[in-house]
Amino acid sequence: MHALKIEDALLTVAYIVSSTLFILSLRGLSSQVTARRGNAYGLIGMGVAIVATLMHSEVNAYANLLIALVVGSGIGALMAARVAMTAMPELVALLHSFVGLAAVLVGYASYLGGHGADEGGRAILLTEIFIDVFIGALTFTGSIVAFLKLRGSLSGKPLLLPGRHALNLAMCVASVGLGVAFASAPETTGLTWLLIMSAIAGVLGVHLVVAIGGADMPVVVSMLNSYSGWTASAAGFMLSNDLLIVTGALVGSSGAILSYIMCRAMNRSIWNVIFGGFGADPAPGAAKAAGPAPEGEVRETSLEETASALAGAREVIFVPGYGMAVARAQHAVQQITDTLRQRGVQVRFAIHPVAGRLPGHMNVLLAEANVPYDVVLEMDEINHDFSRTDVVLVIGANDIVNPSAQSDTSSPIYGMPVLEVWKSSRVVVLKRSRGAGYAGVDNPLFYHENARMLLGDAKQTMDNLLGRLRELG
Ligand code: NDP
Repeated sequence: MHALKIEDALLTVAYIVSSTLFILSLRGLSSQVTARRGNAYGLIGMGVAIVATLMHSEVNAYANLLIALVVGSGIGALMAARVAMTAMPELVALLHSFVGLAAVLVGYASYLGGHGADEGGRAILLTEIFIDVFIGALTFTGSIVAFLKLRGSLSGKPLLLPGRHALNLAMCVASVGLGVAFASAPETTGLTWLLIMSAIAGVLGVHLVVAIGGADMPVVVSMLNSYSGWTASAAGFMLSNDLLIVTGALVGSSGAILSYIMCRAMNRSIWNVIFGGFGADPAPGAAKAAGPAPEGEVRETSLEETASALAGAREVIFVPGYGMAVARAQHAVQQITDTLRQRGVQVRFAIHPVAGRLPGHMNVLLAEANVPYDVVLEMDEINHDFSRTDVVLVIGANDIVNPSAQSDTSSPIYGMPVLEVWKSSRVVVLKRSRGAGYAGVDNPLFYHENARMLLGDAKQTMDNLLGRLRELG
């Protein structure tokens, strides 16, 4: 009895240490300067949690657990090492599907494993099991659909069934009805209701996510991340595991906050994400905006002209976008930054909150190339500085610098905050063509009096530009 109490106390201490480390990890990950430390806190926190769980008196199948740990960690490490930055959302979607499936399996195991004698306790446990399995099944199938859409194995076009909201509501109501039947069934005879509800929740997960445009999946993935957190939390209640409750709540709320931030930066409603239909208009990648093509002439520039404009400038701002990621131009960008700074030019970076294809995409790439953090600024910190900037270099970005977001009410991106690069003395846009970006809309920036296009692959262009700058001495 005495030994058990000490063991319980140690477990509680370990769980508190681990929860604290997870909170510190999230805090660390919120800034580039502390991100590495944040990652380390998360790793140690998870290590403490695993060891503490293994020490639990009821855990004894060590051989099985060791095999699972070795195989799981091996596969995880391999996938993480191999994944390209641009494929990160699909890997995350796949991982969320595992969380969903695990929650469903744990729910079934808890139900079949028997559940206490007293009526009150049983009712609470059955409710926890039901909620856990419901969110878990929805997360599982929703994440698989998100994964397939991101990979391109499923069409990115949103599938909008007639009366889809009524259908979603009917599935939710049916699940509540099944929940009542499940909770009142004696012993484990409610299994049938649980199975039917799991199938319905699975269909609901598929239906919610197929209704969303493929290229808008990253927001959905962040939302599914949130769901997977709440599933883990529900599983924590079910298993009376405080650490799982806390960790699940952390994942659930941070995923929800991230989805909200992404939606706000893209000027979308979060309710559209939750209830589907998001990204239906325009179809991702589809060419052309609703309005007429912008008027004016698109002017091109040369490497020589751009190199001497940069070398002669006092203040330069680089605006990286998805094209920089695709071309993997960040190292050349860093070298040009160094060269210009050595010449006494002030170089800064303007980062739009949804530049690229995942939150923090540009920050990660620039950090990887060792661009100093203090010259990398968020949109709100730098947007008012464009008017006093000599040269802006837009590196593979498009939607995030599109002025029609401010001026054209018929534009699908109208209302999205953008970087006001056209206010500077000279804008040079590096991309391969005049083609549209992610939202599929024309960009009047290219027709601006002070804008010039430097066409070509961003990496190639930046390498050549570096050569020209070095020639200038
Ligand atoms: P965009 O997709 O708007 O534009 C990227 C541009 O890069 C394209 O127009 C393309 O033009 C160019 N490009 C592609 N490959 C290369 C290359 N090898 N070399 C040079 N240029 C290249 O990207 P932005 O970063 O401007 O905007 C991000 C968009 O993604 C926003 O609409 C945002 O809402 C959306 N989004 C962002 C998410 C996030 O979390 N960050 C999540 C979901 C959506 P061309 O083909 O002519 O070269």
